[in-house]
Amino acid sequence: AQPLAEVDPEVSAAVDAELRRQQDTLEMIASENFAPLGVLQAQGSVLTNKYAEGYPGKRYYGGCEHVDVVEQLAIDRVKALFGAEHANVQPHSGAQANAAAMVSVLKPGDTILGLDLAHGGHLTHGMKINFSGKLYNVAAYHVDKETGLVDMAEVERLAQEHKPQLVIAGWSAYPRQLDFAEFRRIADSVGAKLMVDMAHFAGLVAAGLHPSPVPHADLVTTTTHKTLGGPRGGVILSTQELAKKVNSAVFPGQQGGPLEHVIAAKAVAFKIAATEEFAERQRRVLEGARILADRLSAPDAAAAGVKVSSGGTDVHLVLVDLVDSQLDGQQAEDRLHGIGITVNRNAVPFDPRPPMVTSGLRIGTPALATRGFDAEDFAEVADIIAVALRPDFDEETSSALRDRVALLVKRRPLYPELG
Ligand code: PLP
Repeated sequence: AQPLAEVDPEVSAAVDAELRRQQDTLEMIASENFAPLGVLQAQGSVLTNKYAEGYPGKRYYGGCEHVDVVEQLAIDRVKALFGAEHANVQPHSGAQANAAAMVSVLKPGDTILGLDLAHGGHLTHGMKINFSGKLYNVAAYHVDKETGLVDMAEVERLAQEHKPQLVIAGWSAYPRQLDFAEFRRIADSVGAKLMVDMAHFAGLVAAGLHPSPVPHADLVTTTTHKTLGGPRGGVILSTQELAKKVNSAVFPGQQGGPLEHVIAAKAVAFKIAATEEFAERQRRVLEGARILADRLSAPDAAAAGVKVSSGGTDVHLVLVDLVDSQLDGQQAEDRLHGIGITVNRNAVPFDPRPPMVTSGLRIGTPALATRGFDAEDFAEVADIIAVALRPDFDEETSSALRDRVALLVKRRPLYPELG
């Protein structure tokens, strides 16, 4: 029983270096978070050794009595957290959850209607070379050029024209809430099922700070590692009517043995997500995003050609529009990286620059809120970003901003228990 550092010093060193990177920089990738110690421990447990094809009480392997307890806890907790009739906690990732959810209600060649990738949708919502674009016919809706909001009139028009079997609501880069009741009405008007992919905003829903899609949708998919703050993984929630179809689409349809160590970590995350402490953290997530949107709308930002897509945010992220800036998305991402802030460049709707470069940044607050950031800390980080994006940025500014980042990092330590 050799510890990692002895059995594999190279991997061990890289893991240690990644811990330092997470501790010493400001993580603002909107889809990332820091899993708590209990989640890390469950995920790093001996449950990784166990085969458990099937579902609790109905396994194809012996010795499942303990993983049954774990998986049933995860199922019961996530159903209670979101008020869902049925839950499958086995999808290995958000993409796997979406693949299985679609298989549960679609045949190859059916039509799906989802948000265009270039306007904030996800790969699995119908991108050409993703399984979703290869298996299904795709119609894509967009945001309105003026408002930056999803164009519900276009959703309705495309639904009438293409008669999809599945309408998908949900996004990876969109700063506003969707009208789930209106999506339901449109889906019903053409006899389509409605799937909501709440991967990004599930933590806000759990905390009661974002409308829940569950009462409106046939299928709700999510990841467990974004605002929810758990291990990397996926979940499908559904109506009781679709329960059997969902389960058989996941196993044996898409996957073999479930990752019971990850499911244990999901169970822990769902327990935490039901607490007042978690809700308080999600309130800081929203507050931080609003502070960031306000700061990046100030006159000095406007003078630098920096805009906030849709004029603000209702969620955990801000989509920064650099169409009028000297900086493209790549340069802005690199500049922030240079001062210790990690974000990702992201296409903005109607982006004139190519997807590898883009004219935008997606900046999220969940990971910093988990670190303990409050309004004052977020105001400081928002100012650091606004100054970094100005045209007069030079080596002296860079050095001053790096010092300000270092102070924040010190004020809000991450994983002190890990050394
Ligand atoms: N759905 C949405 C809306 C996402 O943003 C993502 C991830 O970015 C996924 C699904 C896929 O999740 P995963 O990376 O776990 O496959």
